[in-house]
Amino acid sequence: MSAPEVPKVPRPPLPRSILDPASVAVVVFLVALLGIHTRPPGLLASIWFANAVALALVVRWPRHLRASSVFALFVGCVAADLLSGTEPYAAAVLNTANAVGVVAGALTIRWRRPEPLLLTGSPAFARLSVGIVVASVVSATVATCLSGLLVDVTPAVSPTAWFSSEFVSYLLLTTILLSVRAGGPWRPPSPRYFDSVRWTVTVPVLVAVTLMIAGMVADGPLLVALPLPALLWCATRIPFSGTALLTACWAGWNLLIAGRVGVLGAGEATQSPVATLSVALVALGPLLVAAVTLDRMAVQNKLHQALEYDSLTGTLSRAAFLRRSQRRLNTLVDASQPVALLMLDLDDFKTINDTMGHAAGDIALVRSAGCILSALPHGAVAGRIGGEEFAVLLPMADHEDATAVADTIRRDHERLHLLSTRTATVSIGLAWAPAAPASVSPLLDTADRALYEAKRGGRNTVVAVTLA
Ligand code: GH3
Ligand code: MG
Ligand code: MG
Repeated sequence: MSAPEVPKVPRPPLPRSILDPASVAVVVFLVALLGIHTRPPGLLASIWFANAVALALVVRWPRHLRASSVFALFVGCVAADLLSGTEPYAAAVLNTANAVGVVAGALTIRWRRPEPLLLTGSPAFARLSVGIVVASVVSATVATCLSGLLVDVTPAVSPTAWFSSEFVSYLLLTTILLSVRAGGPWRPPSPRYFDSVRWTVTVPVLVAVTLMIAGMVADGPLLVALPLPALLWCATRIPFSGTALLTACWAGWNLLIAGRVGVLGAGEATQSPVATLSVALVALGPLLVAAVTLDRMAVQNKLHQALEYDSLTGTLSRAAFLRRSQRRLNTLVDASQPVALLMLDLDDFKTINDTMGHAAGDIALVRSAGCILSALPHGAVAGRIGGEEFAVLLPMADHEDATAVADTIRRDHERLHLLSTRTATVSIGLAWAPAAPASVSPLLDTADRALYEAKRGGRNTVVAVTLA
C-alpha cells in the first residue's frame, strides 16, 4: 500500500522589491564608486561595498535573483570601474567574479529556504555566515582564475586579499542591511519603552563609543582590542542592528580611516589579508553574541506572553489581571477617582460542554471574550480569572457608564449563537466605588457576591453593588 500523499502547503508569494533592475544598477554603481574611492592605488579594496549591498538585496528581496538584476549588478560595477580608470578587460574580469560570487552566496543562503532572509536569530545568522563564506571563496576563485587568463590585470588579484576583502565586507555591511527592521514594519516606540531602556541601552553604547575613541588615541593593538568588551556588552543589550552598526563602524575605522591594520601584526600600515581577516574574525564575536541574544529575547517574549495572557481567549491571565488592576488602582487612589469591577460568569456552561462537546465550549469561551473586549472602553483591564469566568476593571467609570458596559456585554451574549443552535448567556456582578479603594480585594469580593445574586436571580442579568 502506498503512503498517503502529504498535501503541499503553498508557499507565500515573494515580497515585492523596492528596486527595479535599473535602480539596482544605479545603487550598485554608487556603492562601487565608494569602494573604489576608498581602495589604495594599485591594490584591491579592503572593503568592497557593492557585493555586500547586492547580496543583501537578492536575499532580502529574492525576486532580484534573476538574470536582469544580476546583469544590472554587473553593469553598475563595470560602469564604476570604467569611470575610475580601470582597464575594460580588468573591469570585466573583476566584476564577473563579483557577480558570480553574489549569485553563489545567494543560492547557498536560499538553499531549501527560498523565503527572504532576515536576521531574526542565530539560525538566520548561521545561514548568512555560510553564504558569505561561499560567496567569498567562489568570487576569489573566479577572480584568480580569470585574471590568470589575461595579461597585466590591474589591480593584481591575490586570492587571499580578494577573499578577506569580500568576507569582511559581507560580514559588516550585509549583516546591517539584513537586520534593519528584521522584526517587521517599524512602529514608533512608546514613551514607556524609552523609560525602560534609557540606561540599559545608552550606557553600553556610550561606553563602546568612548572606548573606540580611547583606542584611537592609545593606538597600537589597543585600537582593535579596547572596545571589544563594550561591543560584547552592547550585543546583549541593544537591538541586533545597533550592534552590527557599531561593530561595522569600529571595524571600518580599523580597515579604512585609520589605515592601521599593521597594528594587527602585518608590520606595515598597508592592507594585509591576514590583518583584514583578523578584524573580520574579531567583529564576528559581537555579531554572534547579538544573534544569540535575539534567540534569548524570543524565548523571553514567549514566556512573558504565556505568563501574561490566557492562551485560549487572549485576555489577561488571572495573575496578570490582578497585578495590572492593582497597579491601575494605585494611580486612582490618590486622585479619589471612581472605579468599577465586573465579574462575569457564563450561564449553564457545563451543559454546553456536555451537550455540544468541549471543543464547542472552547469556541464559546473565545467568542465570549471577543464580546467582552469589544464592549470595553479604552483603558479597561480584562482577564480570564477562572474556567468560564472573566473580570473587568473599569477605571474612572461612573455608575451609569459601568452599568451601561455591563448591560451591553450581557445583551451581546444573548445574540452570541453557538453553532447556530443555542446561545451562551452571561451573569454579571458589578462592584462600583465612588473613590477607588487601596486594594483590589474589596472590589473582587463585592463583585463576586453580586454575581452570585445574579445567578440566584435567574441568570442572564446584571447585579450592581456600590461599595460604601
Ligand atoms: P452556572 O450558570 O451556575 O455558572 O453554571 P455553569 O455550568 O456555567 O457552572 P459550572 O461551574 O457548573 O461549570 C463550569 C464549566 O466550565 C465546567 C467546566 O468543565 C467548564 N470549563 C472550565 N474551563 C473550560 C475550558 O477551558 N473549556 C471548556 N470547554 N470548558 C471549560
Ligand atoms: Mg463558574
Ligand atoms: Mg458558569
